[in-house]
Amino acid sequence: MKPALPLVFEAPRRGQPPRHWADLTPAERREVVESIGHRAFRARQLSAHYFEGLRSDPAEWTDLPADVRAYLAKALLPRLLHLVKETRCDDDTTIKTLWKLHDGSLVESVLMRYPDRVTLCVSSQAGCGMACPFCATGQGGLQRNMSTAEIVEQVVDGARRLSRGEVPGGRADPAGGSGGRVSNVVFMGMGEPLANYKAVIGAVRQLTTPAPDGLGMSARGITVSTVGLVPRMQQLSTEGIPVTLALSLHAPDDELRDELVPINTRWNVDEVVDAAWEYAQATKRRVSIEYILIRDINDQAFRADLLAKVLKRRGNWGWVHVNLIPLNPTPGSKWTASRRRDEDEFVRRLAARGVPVTVRDTRGREIDGACGQLAATQN
Ligand code: SAH
Repeated sequence: MKPALPLVFEAPRRGQPPRHWADLTPAERREVVESIGHRAFRARQLSAHYFEGLRSDPAEWTDLPADVRAYLAKALLPRLLHLVKETRCDDDTTIKTLWKLHDGSLVESVLMRYPDRVTLCVSSQAGCGMACPFCATGQGGLQRNMSTAEIVEQVVDGARRLSRGEVPGGRADPAGGSGGRVSNVVFMGMGEPLANYKAVIGAVRQLTTPAPDGLGMSARGITVSTVGLVPRMQQLSTEGIPVTLALSLHAPDDELRDELVPINTRWNVDEVVDAAWEYAQATKRRVSIEYILIRDINDQAFRADLLAKVLKRRGNWGWVHVNLIPLNPTPGSKWTASRRRDEDEFVRRLAARGVPVTVRDTRGREIDGACGQLAATQN
């Protein structure tokens, strides 16, 4: 007879995803292993399989006693993400994956391989409650928050595919799968990550904890993107994990931002830009200002000037970088991307005022896998 699991490992509340190894801290993992009568170092062995070897099949954990394997696999490595569909483009270097969660919720992740890096765009919520009118995810509302492990599993899955050589396009062997690692994780998939703060921070910790207890990624390779939940931005700056913060600004004035990013009526342009500036001060990390270019809506020359002014007010340019994103089409949207000449003029005006600015190279538009297009539908 095995002893009962300690309290923290009891079945989760109804509706919550099952608890998983990637939800636990290293101390909790040791505790669970000891609770079934084994030595604590077994936890580290399992972590090495999961985070380093990317092996979730217990048959491969040959250095663990069979009864530990069977028990832990059943109790703490349940399958959280069920593959529904995979879509590829860009010569198979961009891969969008549609996942079904334990309760039937659907989410998507997008893997993008570049010659020198691999970026994984992860979802943090099923749906999104922020209701931005230009974003496909926002149209369906929020279904639920994702758990830490549901977020981590998206990254582990991408890392596993890379390690198995299933993703072509690496520098070493552009023609075939060439291994490689996930170098960047961006919380730019479905959901508002700072509205699911605890699970997202938990996931960031699992990603950045050195192997074998975590994936050992650099915090600098992780970007958390937000509509601007000011208290959470402030909290994030105190965590001691210097992730890159991206702020989806999209308008430099409250009148327009109230419409484009409805949460602006709660925290306005001044407040979110202040919070972004404070984040840069606290972490010494340059903040990204995300700005979609929508034809004749927010792409006028005067708005470029106003954007420069709003950012300049907070000090020198070293703290910020503006990322312009041509609007991606979404079903039913009345808006389209800016004309080329308006985009060029917008860039020119920012650059002329010394604002660091780039236009984002968008991937995955033709498979509805680009920014703002993730709707997680099955057709
Ligand atoms: N909720 C967070 C995380 C999602 S990130 C946030 O809004 O920041 C997704 C990024 O893509 C955001 O900057 C978002 O504003 C942008 N985006 C949304 N819809 C888009 C669209 N149709 N075209 C281009 N970018 C879009």
